[in-house]
Amino acid sequence: MKKSYNIAILPGDGIGPEIVDAAVKVLTQVSEQTGVTFTYAYGRIGGCAIDEDGTPLPEETLRIAKEADAVLLGAVGGPKWDQNPGHLRPEAGLLGIRKGLGLFANLRPATMHPSLVDASSLKPEVVAGVDLMVVRELTGGIYFGEKKRYTQDGVEVAEDQLIYNEAEIERIIRMSFEIARKRDKRLCSVDKANVLESSRLWRGVAERVAKDYPDVEMTHMLVDACAMQLVRAPKQFDVIVTENMFGDILSDEAAMLTGSIGMLASASLGEGSFGLYEPVHGSAPDIAGQGVANPLATFLSVALLLRHSLSMDQAADAVEQAVWAVLDKGHRTADIAVDRTQAVGTEQMTAYVVEELLKQLTQK
Ligand code: NAD
Repeated sequence: MKKSYNIAILPGDGIGPEIVDAAVKVLTQVSEQTGVTFTYAYGRIGGCAIDEDGTPLPEETLRIAKEADAVLLGAVGGPKWDQNPGHLRPEAGLLGIRKGLGLFANLRPATMHPSLVDASSLKPEVVAGVDLMVVRELTGGIYFGEKKRYTQDGVEVAEDQLIYNEAEIERIIRMSFEIARKRDKRLCSVDKANVLESSRLWRGVAERVAKDYPDVEMTHMLVDACAMQLVRAPKQFDVIVTENMFGDILSDEAAMLTGSIGMLASASLGEGSFGLYEPVHGSAPDIAGQGVANPLATFLSVALLLRHSLSMDQAADAVEQAVWAVLDKGHRTADIAVDRTQAVGTEQMTAYVVEELLKQLTQK
């Protein structure tokens, strides 16, 4: 294992700086207990970069990110920039950095922790024990195809092209098999092969790649069936892999099985171990600056960062265990509290996790 890593830190807007500061405290505890040094390089992205640099993704930020072993991002956006033209919107910074870093896979784990079962809108017996991962293709498909708007015979027409090539499909399928190998060795490839040609290519490539992974059981499911099965019997899934638009929808659906948006982590990966890690939620401008943001999704994103980009599996497990242990003790931020008068703020929640992390790391 390497002894030092460079981590790019992009706090962004709204609650971004608060939750990222909290995450750095978690990383510092990991560093102190493992002896591995983390060097942080800070950059601006989103609304704060529009204000300071006149662009949502300054060159300097992209350079810092490219030179790092991993990137930790808070969140971007807010009402201040909502009326800006497309290229000057905070989200353009996000799309730009994903593209600029070649991040073609988005991973969203959905793990139901027993003490949060009541936070889900589904029945406890349906969601208890859910532990799945959605892998979404991030840089191809209909979101990136040619778009057209024209009038034909006096009628307005809109066109969005859906293109995938074999290589784009193969790399995401391979990555998903590798992920499944480290989990329960079950991969469900989701498509719409009964209707779409691109899905028939997807399925063919998945079948071919599966031959290299005889230890992983692969199944296929149509996207409509998958959307249904996710709310009917989510425990049947281990890893789900799918194309960009289907993944956009299914990953939100799967994530919400587990309840609160303040708990959801995400990783965007490219070739090799490099990745960008962020919580799923946005910049929560309604609570920014109040010290009440839930930092746990960002901590769980740090765990993904440690595991996927730095190969620090034990430290990753310890961060996750620390989060679950703090929840088991009944500590809650306001967004996940049943009794809000008992809720703790960002700083207190962070202190609890950092303290628990010390126990976890010194036990191992
Ligand atoms: P949001 O996810 O920011 O907030 C939705 C609700 O959840 C709010 O009531 C908020 O207070 C709450 N919430 C979210 N995260 C929380 C946390 N960690 N702790 C406690 N409560 C939390 O979504 P929104 O309000 O629709 O969007 C706000 C801004 O964020 C918009 O400008 C949007 O474009 C942007 N956004 C950014 C990202 C990103 O950076 N990846 C993702 C989604 C939305």
